[in-house]
Amino acid sequence: MNTIIQIAYFAAAVLFILGLKRMSSPVTARDGIVWAGGGMAVAIVITYLWPNMHNYLLMTLAIALGGIAAWVSGKRVAMTAMPQMIALYNGMGGGAAAAIGAVELSKASTKHGVVALFLAALGGLIGAVSFTGSLVAFAKLQDLTKRGALFPKAMQKQIMTAGLVVFAVLALLMVFVHPYGSVVFLFFVLALGFGVIMTMPIGGADMPVVISLYNALTGLAVGLEGFVLDNAAMIIAGTVVGSAGTLLTQLMAKAMNRSLANVLFAGVGTSDARIDQQSIEGSMKAIEGSDAAIMMAFAERVIIIPGYGMAVAQAQHKIWELTELLEERGVMVKFAIHPVAGRMPGHMNVLLAEAGVPYDKIYDLEDINAEFPKTDVALIIGANDVVNPDARTNKSSPIYGMPILDADKAKNCIVIKRGKGTGFSGVENTLFYADNARLLYGDGQKMASELIQGVKGL
Ligand code: NAP
Repeated sequence: MNTIIQIAYFAAAVLFILGLKRMSSPVTARDGIVWAGGGMAVAIVITYLWPNMHNYLLMTLAIALGGIAAWVSGKRVAMTAMPQMIALYNGMGGGAAAAIGAVELSKASTKHGVVALFLAALGGLIGAVSFTGSLVAFAKLQDLTKRGALFPKAMQKQIMTAGLVVFAVLALLMVFVHPYGSVVFLFFVLALGFGVIMTMPIGGADMPVVISLYNALTGLAVGLEGFVLDNAAMIIAGTVVGSAGTLLTQLMAKAMNRSLANVLFAGVGTSDARIDQQSIEGSMKAIEGSDAAIMMAFAERVIIIPGYGMAVAQAQHKIWELTELLEERGVMVKFAIHPVAGRMPGHMNVLLAEAGVPYDKIYDLEDINAEFPKTDVALIIGANDVVNPDARTNKSSPIYGMPILDADKAKNCIVIKRGKGTGFSGVENTLFYADNARLLYGDGQKMASELIQGVKGL
């Protein structure tokens, strides 16, 4: 039976890896989810066959409750609330890994060697930090709590250093002395608190990066606990999640031109990070839908830049309809996607794919930026920070250094937004005041419909 179990865990791990591979392209991403889900189903079913397994009722109840909660919340969640949803699920993974660590450490003396105990403690610590850290990230994105350190900055550092020393001492006790459950309990209470202290001071705009980091940590914790339980599926799945999460964290930080340390210990999206509106020259000039439609219909080249507001307005279908109309008139239309547009990695790609936009019309920042100077109209729908030229020039701007889409270099910019709202980083956008920019005020979907009517009426 043991061989069958190990083969099944190996098969599950292979399915996880193949699933992840397929997730790397929007064309195969849906399949990838199914493959990885299949791997998880195999791992769950085979776990029932472990020798000496008991508590079948509890296991089934937990799986049923978790499954129903995930199914219902997954069906209901709005696309714009996806990051906090991911934070929540990710936190659950960390919590589960921490729980395994706690159980294994409390029955320490009888079962495990020093190395396994050390891994259980390390995995437990990382999992617990990831659990509460992810919950704080969820609360912040859901606007349930504001940014704010629990302690002054200097004290925060000291507390974190002292915390690490305490963890080390408690871990040594747990690994070598096999103490009573109270030490294990204290270790985990402190680890849970540590996650809260670490995450509270980080600004809301940085939460997606933080969530990705905790995702990587959760993977690491699961992998470590996999060693403790001698479970191949957990080791491989944890390692895959850990490395994918680390790469994603790096990519996101790079796309914002910031180091991970800067994300964790500095603040973007905070009230003190706004620039002085008075210092911006020019004024915001409005345009009517019909005039904007004429500009686009008689253009040779148009680049559409979607951002978070397109997701809020769910305007992707209308935008694709508009694109098709323009193309019928001979206009060349391309889509430009900034790596951190929206509120999660790949946010815009998912929406455009949902609307049926072919992948060969969608361009990454580095592939399209050179084309803006020869573009007649850049249509910006619900994007703000990712086209803010301040990121290039204004050293005092909190988004200084972030690579942006060079929409301001197009001959004309039409910006669809509802009013004078700022982007996620909370800073004003100098592009909106530029001579070549016109503001088409209104909800993204409504304005896209106006453009469609305008083009049809020509
Ligand atoms: P953004 O800077 O957040 O701007 C969104 C704009 O959409 C706002 O100016 C808002 O203006 C407008 N808007 C909102 N609802 C709208 C609606 N219904 N119709 C039309 N317009 C609407 O968005 P972004 O340019 O996509 O930038 C993303 C931001 O998130 C960046 O700062 C990025 O660093 C941050 N972030 C993203 C990720 C990620 O993974 N994608 C990760 C970390 C951080 P009005 O209120 O005036 O309408």
